Amino acid sequence: MKYRYLGKTGLQLSELSLGSWITFHNQANIDKTVELMAAAYDAGANFFDNAENYSAGKSEEVMGAALKKLGWRRGSYLISTKLFWGLHDNPNEKNTLNRKYLLEAIDGSLKRLGTDHVDLLFCHRPDPHTPIEETVWAMHNNIERGKALYWGTSEWEAADILRAIEIAERHHLHKPVVEQPVYNLFQRHRFADAYTPVYEEHGYGSTTWSPLALGLLSGKYNNGIPAGSRGSLEAFSWLKEQLTDAKRLAMVSKLAPMAEEMGASLAQFSLAWCLKNPHVSSVITGASSVRQIEENMKSAEFVDRFDEDLMRRIDDIFVEV
Ligand code: NDP
Repeated sequence: MKYRYLGKTGLQLSELSLGSWITFHNQANIDKTVELMAAAYDAGANFFDNAENYSAGKSEEVMGAALKKLGWRRGSYLISTKLFWGLHDNPNEKNTLNRKYLLEAIDGSLKRLGTDHVDLLFCHRPDPHTPIEETVWAMHNNIERGKALYWGTSEWEAADILRAIEIAERHHLHKPVVEQPVYNLFQRHRFADAYTPVYEEHGYGSTTWSPLALGLLSGKYNNGIPAGSRGSLEAFSWLKEQLTDAKRLAMVSKLAPMAEEMGASLAQFSLAWCLKNPHVSSVITGASSVRQIEENMKSAEFVDRFDEDLMRRIDDIFVEV
């Protein structure tokens, strides 16, 4: 496993990490989560991503219980959580990045995760109703109170990130240092184009999500929805449309010979493509089995095979996205 600096910070993240989103609690109980996290950790992954709203807090609880069983030294791994959507259907407790919510919600996350601090704390989405200045101060205060070590944004516009950095610099506050954007072969332009000044001029880091486009880029949906897959989960039936989109499936089929040529699985090929981008600090993978983790964690072996010619051939397939 290689480690990359989180932008210009001194923090090193494994270039492949593991997220909990749909998997923990829905597909993996505590014991299975222990196995998944151990497989990633044994392969060198040091970063585990979570969010307050994943399975309404249950995902944090499962990860917290798994960490307790695993008993790893706290310094040997990083965990994150993300705040915005909230757990309670009240004003000031949902869809907000206001000061009250950010300073109170973090305590619930820490309790569920069984830790006194998270390493990375994200604003899970932008909040157009709270001044960015209020959010920047609250995130700074969470760091000052020792509840988080670094903070960042997820799916914010580049202009808003630049504004947050400017406010923090003006008041000598802890700046946001990392964005968590979607990045995969289908959804790449915002990350690859719009954020360039944020990465290049401000040394922002990135932890990217859904690298396999929910599993589609592993090729597993090429012949329908396999039993037990994410696409078969009743509670997530809203994902089915994306996972059975004929145009996307046709694009995935065209990648198969390229992956085969380099001796990689489609999942490894698609993950290696993400890793090729130097602005990526860590690709957050998702997995419902140890076998998937073992396969995915080997994808870095193929990054050097993505030369200009191959990148062009890939772009020709995804020209319409
Ligand atoms: P992916 O797009 O990589 O999808 C992961 C899923 O694909 C797995 O759970 C598994 O599903 C399937 N899969 C993975 N590897 C393989 C393989 N080798 N062969 C076959 N199938 C495979 O990532 P996620 O969508 O899970 O996102 C990763 C993480 O990113 C999340 O856990 C979360 O931490 C973060 N995230 C952040 C968001 C944000 O807004 N900031 C939004 C979404 C995610 P199965 O086996 O069940 O079919």
